[in-house]
Amino acid sequence: MHIRFWGTRGSLPRPGPDTLCFGGNTSCVEVNTDSGTRVIIDCGSGLYDLGQALIGAGQPTLKGHILISHTHWDHIQGIPFFAPFFKPGNQWDIYAPKGLGQSLRDTLAGQMQYDYFPLRLDQMGATIRYHELIEGDLHINDVKVRMQYLNHTALTLGYRLEGDGAALVYACDHEPFSPQLASGKGDILGRDRQHCEFLAGADLVIHDAQFTAPEYANKIGWGHSTVEYAVAMCRASGAARLALTHHDPLRTDRAIEEIVRNACDQCGISPALDIFAAAEGQELRLRPNSNALAPALSSQTTSSDAVGLARPLLLMAMKDPLAANTIREAAQADGITVVEMSSEAQALANVRSVQPSLIILEWEQDHDELYNKSSGDIPIIVVAPIENEASARTKTPDAEWLIKPFSSAYARTRIRACLLRTACHWERVLTSDEEEKRLAALHDLGILDTPPEERFDRITRLAASILKVPIALVSLVDRERQWFKSTCGMNLAETSREVSFCSHAVASREVLVVSDTLQDPRFSDNPLVTDLPRIRFYAGCPIFVGEACVGTLCVLDARPRQIDAERVRLLCELAKLAEVELQKSPSG
Ligand SMILES: [Zn+2]
Ligand SMILES: [Zn+2]
Repeated sequence: MHIRFWGTRGSLPRPGPDTLCFGGNTSCVEVNTDSGTRVIIDCGSGLYDLGQALIGAGQPTLKGHILISHTHWDHIQGIPFFAPFFKPGNQWDIYAPKGLGQSLRDTLAGQMQYDYFPLRLDQMGATIRYHELIEGDLHINDVKVRMQYLNHTALTLGYRLEGDGAALVYACDHEPFSPQLASGKGDILGRDRQHCEFLAGADLVIHDAQFTAPEYANKIGWGHSTVEYAVAMCRASGAARLALTHHDPLRTDRAIEEIVRNACDQCGISPALDIFAAAEGQELRLRPNSNALAPALSSQTTSSDAVGLARPLLLMAMKDPLAANTIREAAQADGITVVEMSSEAQALANVRSVQPSLIILEWEQDHDELYNKSSGDIPIIVVAPIENEASARTKTPDAEWLIKPFSSAYARTRIRACLLRTACHWERVLTSDEEEKRLAALHDLGILDTPPEERFDRITRLAASILKVPIALVSLVDRERQWFKSTCGMNLAETSREVSFCSHAVASREVLVVSDTLQDPRFSDNPLVTDLPRIRFYAGCPIFVGEACVGTLCVLDARPRQIDAERVRLLCELAKLAEVELQKSPSG
C-alpha cells in the first residue's frame, strides 16, 4: 500500500511561513494499492492539489473511492474544487457515515448551495455514487475496510484499511472516551479498549493529535485527541508507526517538532513505536505484514428485531436537570421522542410497555445492579460525572457512557451512534469470488443502458398482471447498481446496489420472497422500505446467463402480501422467458 498525505491540518487551512514543513491544508490522505485501487480518505482543502495531480497524470478516465470520516467542513471543503469530479466519464464513489435524517448527498450538496458556491453538486460531470455507512466491514476491490464509530461532536467513522498484506488505520476526529486517558496514563477500558483493538497491529495509524495533555483541560468535549492519548493507544495496540495529524491551526512547524520529540520521550529509550508528525506531501509505503490482518467480524451488519429508525423512542431517567435538558435538546434535534421516568427503577420496569430504541440513565453508586439488568437488546447509555467515571465504567461494562459535562452535540452523536449501531439495518450482500466472472457475463450481453424494448416490457406487464401486483421489473445487478431493463408500474432507471433486494436473490441464486419487509431485519431499514417507493412485498426470481446469475425478474408491492407456490412457479416461468430474450442479440 502506498500512502500520501495531501492535508494534515485540523479545523482550518493555515498556509503561511510557519506551516511550510507540515503543511497548511486540511485533512486528505491518498492510498493506492499495488493493483491500482485508489482510496482517498477525507476531503479537506488538501483534496484540491490531489485533484490537480490526478488530472495532470493524463489518464483518460479517473476512478476512485472516497471515504469521508464525517462532514465537518475541514473534511469536505475540498469537494467543490476536486477537478476529477468535473469530467464526464470519471467515476467516483463517496462513502460517509449514515445520519438519522438528511441523506449524504443532500449534506454534501448543502455546502454548494447557491449562496455559497456557483455550481451545484449535480452540475459536476463525473458519475458520483453515494454510499452511507454504519459500523462493519466493506470491500473496495482488493481493500477490506472496517468502520468503527469514533468519539466526536458529530457522528464520525474511523477507517481501517487492509490491502497488499498491510493495515492502515485513519482515526480523525476522535476524543478519548475517558477524559482521564488524555494524559496517556491509566487503564484502557470500555470503548477506549475497543478503539485500541481497532488499531491492533496496524502498520500505520494516522491519528488525531490536535492537543497536548496540558492543553486538553480546556478542550474537553471539543472532539479531539491528545498526542499522549494517541501514543498510549498505539503502544497498547501494538501498532508499528504513528502519524500524528489534524495539527491544531495554532501549531507552528517548530511546535510540532517539539511535540514529536516529547512524544518519543514518552515512549522511553527503546521505542517499539515509530512516531512522527504527518507532513503534507509525505509519502510512505507499507510492506506486507501478516500480523496486521484483523479477524473477520462475526457478521457483516448488525440486525435486531423490528425496532426501526422510523420512529425512534428514548426512555430516560435523569436526576440532574441540566444534563437532562441537554439530552432532551439533542434528541429533539433528531426528531426522537423522549419518554421520561422519575427513577431508574421505574424506567427499567417500563421497558416492555414503552419499547424504547434506547435508554439513558443516570449513574448512581449503589444502583449498579440496575444497569446490568436485562433490558433485552435495547442499548443503555449511562450518564456519570467525571469523578465517578472509573467506577461507572467498571460496573457497566456493556453500557455506553456519557461523562458530564457534555454538550448537546456530543449527546446527539452518542445517541445516533447507539441507535445506528443497534437498531435494525438492512443487510448488504457480500460479493463472492465469482463476482468478476458474473459481471463479465453481464457486460458481455451489451444490454446495460440500452433503451426499453417491448420484448422485455411484455414480460413485466404479464408478471404484474398474473401476480396482481403494481410493480414488476427486469433488474440486472451491475457492480455498483441495479439497472432496470424493463419497468412496469415504476419510473426509475436504477438504484444503488447497496439497497438492492435483487442482489440478495442474485447472491443466493435462488428465488427470494419477502412477504413483509418491515418484519424482515434484512430489509426493514432499507431506504426503499422506509422511504419511497416504501416496498413492503418483494418476490424475485433469478435470471441466468450460462452459469452466471445476472439479475432477476421481480415483483413489488407497497403492501405486505402472501404468495403461493403456484404463483412463484409462474414468476419463474416468466423469468425463463426473460433469460431467453437476454441471450438473443441486443437488436433482438
Ligand atoms: Zn476535523
Ligand atoms: Zn470534526
